Amino acid sequence: MTSESFSRAAIIGIGLIGSSLGRAMREAGVAGTIVGFDQSPDVIRRAAACGVVDAPAASLDEALVGADLIVVSTPVGAMATVLAEIAAKAEAGALVIDVGSVKGAVVTAAADLNPRVHIVPCHPVAGTEQSGPEAGFASLFKDRWSIITPLARHDEAYLAAVKCAADLWRAVGAHVELMDHQHHDLALAITSHLPHLIAFTLVGAADDLESVTEAEIVKYSAGGFRDFTRIAASDPVMWRDVFVNNKDAVLEVLGRFTEELALLQRAIRWGDAETLEKVFARGRSLRRAIVAAGQEKDVPNFGRDEKA
Ligand code: NAP
Repeated sequence: MTSESFSRAAIIGIGLIGSSLGRAMREAGVAGTIVGFDQSPDVIRRAAACGVVDAPAASLDEALVGADLIVVSTPVGAMATVLAEIAAKAEAGALVIDVGSVKGAVVTAAADLNPRVHIVPCHPVAGTEQSGPEAGFASLFKDRWSIITPLARHDEAYLAAVKCAADLWRAVGAHVELMDHQHHDLALAITSHLPHLIAFTLVGAADDLESVTEAEIVKYSAGGFRDFTRIAASDPVMWRDVFVNNKDAVLEVLGRFTEELALLQRAIRWGDAETLEKVFARGRSLRRAIVAAGQEKDVPNFGRDEKA
């Protein structure tokens, strides 16, 4: 990707991911001007104040004027409406990428839109439990994977747009993989959506347990619970939209999860130490594989400062 490959980039939805991509694009020098629009005027003001965007836009229409790159970084539930407006109003030939955590819903919404713009569905598999423009940082995508699930379009202009989107992700430090949206949604259901569901459930169950006080939960949380609370602190709107839009894949992996859980429940009931050890050993070796692949640091306590 050459310096200032895009003359004007528009970020729609300037939260954690939109503001991180804005910062990363600025650092990589891939866009001349970065404009930003958000449904919340307060977010637009804060994004301008922390230097994420060069120019705040008062409306979606204003943000789209002259934009040759449009990044849709709203929650998944808002994307169908936003993409339809963009397809109708953006400059012809603009590259439009989204960053949604679910891809089937985005591909379906984009499939029948006017091909005068090139919509390339993307999912950077990188994030934190924080939200808003202040939470973003330029290195978020470095050495993370960004998955592209192209539309079923095979014309030359669209294939060039997919390549351009891949180059953009590489320019901000990510590795790129292309796959179909069904495979993406199933893979992410097990690696991301189910873990979040378990964390929300566990924290909810602890909250409901009347015989253990909240003070005790806080006091003894280092025993594993604390790590689940970090995941469970994620944005409720974003996660609501993930589960509403990836129902089938989540129900599929949830079925398998409950079977595994029943197996462990039975092993505990019958004192089946061998089964317990075998299942737990699989966990340890998977963790080592993730560290070996550079997707996690091999430091005790997830690298937290002991005093923190
Ligand atoms: P976020 O920090 O909450 O930012 C989303 C922003 O979009 C908010 O400021 C929101 O405004 C705004 N918005 C909502 N509807 C809009 C609309 N119709 N037009 C313009 N702006 C609108 O969320 P995020 O974590 O950046 O997530 C954004 C997207 O990235 C989601 O699709 C998510 O699935 C995906 N993603 C997230 C992560 C992660 O770990 N967080 C990782 C990868 C991908 P309000 O606050 O007023 O609603």
